[in-house]
Amino acid sequence: MDIDWNFVKNFSPDEFPENPNKYADVKTIYALQTIRNVLKKPIYPSPEDGALARFDAENESSQHYCDPSQEIYSKACDWFTEAWPDETFICLISLRSKYIFNAFGIYLDTYLYGKHWPMFHTDTRTLDGLPLMWFRDEGQYYYIQDRRDFSLLITVLKEATFIHVNKNQ
Ligand SMILES: [Zn+2]
Repeated sequence: MDIDWNFVKNFSPDEFPENPNKYADVKTIYALQTIRNVLKKPIYPSPEDGALARFDAENESSQHYCDPSQEIYSKACDWFTEAWPDETFICLISLRSKYIFNAFGIYLDTYLYGKHWPMFHTDTRTLDGLPLMWFRDEGQYYYIQDRRDFSLLITVLKEATFIHVNKNQ
């Protein structure tokens, strides 16, 4: 199935580091537009190589992995937004479903055009159980859905907000 860009009003193929028409699962791009529709704030796909699709064998287990010869297309995209991290989180937790996207991560150790700026990852993997939700700081991954209390999540959102506020200073 091809991406119908009439349904993807806020993005164009050349905004992505890899060509989405060739390398992305359609759901990956539609998920991004759905998030954009709800968030109503600009979303910027990360310009880093591999932020949409990755081709090397060491990324074979990644949701970004793509091998068109096997009809495997990227299920994941990494992106930045002008929206506040807490409103973005609430948007993601409310949209998360098997129909739109199933997993997301918040990254505190990322930069866009030299500015320290929290990044989000969304992917449309197939999941039966709980959504997958994690954050990454200094290269270390922490899985939030395994925890019974919200203290870690609140700490992450506070830190992400602090970074977001300071990125323009
Ligand atoms: Zn990612």
